[in-house]
Amino acid sequence: MQLYPVWRLVFLASILSLAASAALAEEAILITVDATRTRQKLLHTHLVMPVKPGPQTLYYPKWIPGEHGPDGPIANLTGLKFEANGHTVPWQRDLLDVFTFHLEIPNGVSRLDVNFDYIEPDGGSATDKLLVLEWNEVLLYPADVPAEKLRYEAELAMPDGWQFGTALPVKNEAGNRVSFNPISLDLLVDSPVITGEFYRKIDLTPPGEPIHHEIDIAADSADALNMSPENQKQMINLVAESGKLFGARHYRDYHFLLALSDHVAHFGLEHHESNNSRLPERTLLLPSSGMTLGGLLAHEFAHSWNGKFRRPADLTVPYYEQPMKTDLLWGYEGLTDYLGPMLAARSGLWTPEQYREYLASIAAMLGPGRPGRTWRPLLDTAVVEPGLGFARGGWMSWRRGTDYYDEGDLLWLEVATIIHRDSGGKKSIDDFCQEFHGGPNHGPEVKTYTFDDVVNTLNQVVAYDWRGFWTQRLTNHGPGAPLTGIENSGWKLVYDEKRSPLIENWEEERKDIDARFSIGLDLMWNGEIVDTIEGMPAAKAGIGPGMKIIAVNGKRMGKHTFHDALQATKTSNIPLELLVENTDYYTTYKLDYHNGEMYPHLVRDESKPDMLSDIIKAK
Ligand SMILES: [Zn+2]
Repeated sequence: MQLYPVWRLVFLASILSLAASAALAEEAILITVDATRTRQKLLHTHLVMPVKPGPQTLYYPKWIPGEHGPDGPIANLTGLKFEANGHTVPWQRDLLDVFTFHLEIPNGVSRLDVNFDYIEPDGGSATDKLLVLEWNEVLLYPADVPAEKLRYEAELAMPDGWQFGTALPVKNEAGNRVSFNPISLDLLVDSPVITGEFYRKIDLTPPGEPIHHEIDIAADSADALNMSPENQKQMINLVAESGKLFGARHYRDYHFLLALSDHVAHFGLEHHESNNSRLPERTLLLPSSGMTLGGLLAHEFAHSWNGKFRRPADLTVPYYEQPMKTDLLWGYEGLTDYLGPMLAARSGLWTPEQYREYLASIAAMLGPGRPGRTWRPLLDTAVVEPGLGFARGGWMSWRRGTDYYDEGDLLWLEVATIIHRDSGGKKSIDDFCQEFHGGPNHGPEVKTYTFDDVVNTLNQVVAYDWRGFWTQRLTNHGPGAPLTGIENSGWKLVYDEKRSPLIENWEEERKDIDARFSIGLDLMWNGEIVDTIEGMPAAKAGIGPGMKIIAVNGKRMGKHTFHDALQATKTSNIPLELLVENTDYYTTYKLDYHNGEMYPHLVRDESKPDMLSDIIKAK
């Protein structure tokens, strides 16, 4: 190991530059982003930075809040040039860190001009008609000053006729240019801008709510903006229900920024006063719109309290070069993943049945029979997030994925049921949220927490061995998924041959077949095998991910052919016969399986009160 010399250098460099940079923080850095060439996937940045003669280090943001990893898109930065007093200032990239640039500022120089382009990747954040701008992608910042101490004054030029939405306070608008009030770097990075030709803003402030809420939608077509009155009502309910759940807000106003396109990456990224959410273009026009909106937007919205306001201490870093520790993601993401769907159900975006089908699908995916936890406890799925968290490919059930999200749902439901039970019905998970996420509104503010803080707050709500609970749940190796929350709440997990509308929806969207709970296969309609569940019939027979099913019982592979043949195993004595292609070779596999199709559901356990329905009822 050669850690020591490197760390020593970093430490010395930090001391030197902290002294030099104190003055920097006082004067704003000017940033102008020219997005008029968005259609060509080019965003141009011009920065004017106050500097002093001598060594200067600049960073491109590396550890991105909410992404929990060092995945700043440095590969897309190009054309980087520094100038001062009309002369080029040479730069050198750090030999150990590609996000770091070193310069020597000449004598007599007090302003540094920085120019570069950011290339929007295919399937990134830009289309012919819209752009979602995350500021961390288009800026550099001086080393070793906390992001909250650096001030930026931002201006954005958009293609002619495009409108925009953002939580950033606007200073001035003229033509296609907008300038924003000076703001700290951490708030700038926390406040994306959505802009587009087809744009609509809808007020989502519930009656009597003093804080303004809105959704800012940019889409690839005008039609796609048509959010139904019913969905609008449900979104307003979502805002109202969040107020009742947390009993407080920690923002000046709130913007749901929603991009609707088939050509951007689909995900949601939380911010304190907004969220950057992206869904397929026609989402709002489909019967499943409420389910889709609830699944994404309620989660990202809940993050404003859980993740942004209350944030694990070791995930909270002063600037974006500093590594984060992710061991508390079962709180940051796991609790959010529980609260989001709960709020979606309370607001009517989801029906109670949809909520139960969602829980059933998670419980089924995490077990029984899933082998990953035999070698790897839940806590480890959080700890590895920065490197391996979003690892993709086959054998997910064996390697385990980002289980701290889904298993977090089940565990926090268990917490909710214990609070209810041990308080004799006097307390609920809402009391925990009000204790943990409440308090006065100072605008966007971070209040960090540790494992002990979670345990102590739970104990304030109801006394229980919470330390033992979380320690056991986070470090155990089995035997299966933690179903106690579902069972405590008066329901049980069962399997039958009927696909839930939720699974039918997923299958249609992804054009795949979910046979994970029967023979242990996730495959596409064309036969390509996405994944195989270790220990289940297909895997036992020798089938693996990456292979392709060509024929089922002698007939060409197809969606209906496969479903029919799988269901027919129930009344047949002969094995299911799959002709499979693997790297140019064909093999016939015989699966001695006779249980038909199998899909998870929750059914009532009449021996217990129905706590689950109570938890998701509108407050
Ligand atoms: Zn999240």
